[in-house]
Parts: sequence; C-alpha cells; structure tokens
Amino acid sequence: MTERGEEAGAGALRIERGWTVARFPILDRADRVFHLFIGKTIEGKADGAAELDALFPPPLARRRAVRLRQVHGARVVDARSLAARGEAGAVEADASLTDVPGLLLRVRTADCLPVYLVDPEGPVVALAHAGWRGLVAGVIEETVARMRAGGSAPTRLLAAIGPSIGPCCYEVGEEVAEKLGIGARPRPGGRGRPHVDLFEAAGARLLAAGLLEERIGPRPACTACAADRLHSYRREKERVGRNEAWLAILPQAKLGSGR
Ligand SMILES: [Zn+2]
Repeated sequence: MTERGEEAGAGALRIERGWTVARFPILDRADRVFHLFIGKTIEGKADGAAELDALFPPPLARRRAVRLRQVHGARVVDARSLAARGEAGAVEADASLTDVPGLLLRVRTADCLPVYLVDPEGPVVALAHAGWRGLVAGVIEETVARMRAGGSAPTRLLAAIGPSIGPCCYEVGEEVAEKLGIGARPRPGGRGRPHVDLFEAAGARLLAAGLLEERIGPRPACTACAADRLHSYRREKERVGRNEAWLAILPQAKLGSGR
C-alpha cells in the first residue's frame, strides 16, 4: 500500500466554496454514490454555513444526516432505523450503512479514520469511524460483515479512507502499537514513543475481511500535518473542531461528466 500511498498525499486536499474538502476517485467507480470529506473553512468566509449546504447536491441535505454518538466501539447500525429519529435519537454506534437512496451518512473525526465502503452493485454504502480503539474493537470487520450479510461480496467493495493522522505524527504508547498488531516504528534516533500507521492497520483489516487491494484508495492527507486546513486533535487538543465525512446513495445517477 506504500507505493500507492505516495501518489496522493496532502495534494488531495482542495478548496470548494471556501471549505477544505477531499474526494476519493476510487469511489467514483460506483454510479449514484455521493461522498465527501470536509475540513476547515478558509478564514474570513462570511457565510460558511450556506456555502457548506451548497456542497451537497439536492435532495441530500446535511442537516438531515443520520447522526451517531461515536464511542470508539464496533457497533454498526442500519441508517434506515435511525433516519426518523433526528438528532435527539442518535444512538451510540461508530458505523452506519444503508441501501436507501437519499439517506445521508455522517461521521465526525479529528485524527481518527473515516472509512468509506461502497458496493457499486445495489448500491450499498457504509461509513465507519475508526481510531485505534475502534480498529482493535473490530469496527472494520463488523461493517464489512454487515455488508456481506446483506449480499455484498467483499471482493466487490470499494474502500477509501479519509484524511486522518499519519504515521509521521501519530505517537502512541507501546501497548497501543502492540494491540493494533502492526509494527511500530521507533522515532528517528531511537528515542521517544513509537509512531504507528493507522492507515496500514486499517488496510490490513480491510484485506483480511476480503477486500481487494486494487479497490482500496491511496493514503490520505495527514490531519496533523495539515492542521491549518483540517481539524486535528493532536494539534488542537480541547479546542479542536471536527472534520465531517459524508456518504450517500443518490436518488438518480450522476448527470453528465461530473466534476
Ligand atoms: Zn503528519
């Protein structure tokens, strides 16, 4: 995954309507699927909310997204059962999925990995929030298992991981590195805490769940390196905001040549 990882990098971030966004070309292999990752607004933007709304093609509306109370676990919920509940009815879960057009899935992150999964046949979409705890808890395996139970063969799934903390900036204790089951790399000079690669850990789990490497998107930008454009807990601590990952099935096929 390393070679593909080097082709994207922070260059994949761009500005649309005054907001930092990322999009993942691998997911465009599916018709009728809308996906987006939104970071910070550029400074001095007068009306950020209206511009934000405009990033969503009608009838998708971000205010009507299916919301989760994320708890770093592995629970996956069917978005259809949540759609009628509104914000107050948000349940504790770290992933949701749906085959219903027009239902907008959302997860919020600030260094954790937003994991987008799309079965182009159907289509069926799932969106998961995964930090090291969620990875260890098995949120990726659970999400793929739910899709498989609904008839989506893992070999057919397309996967993308949105901007999240990179191995350049992710320092953890030895026990976290051990729990993740991947090699931690010592700091240059051999001192300090290990740096681990959550993208690599997630990729290994996707492959083990039956996905094909060529259907997994490249390494995303690092939130901590790009903290001027993306929310990063490691950089901003208590005053951190949240990046937002979005995924939905569009009611109709995308028109024309798209973006
Ligand atoms: Zn970094």
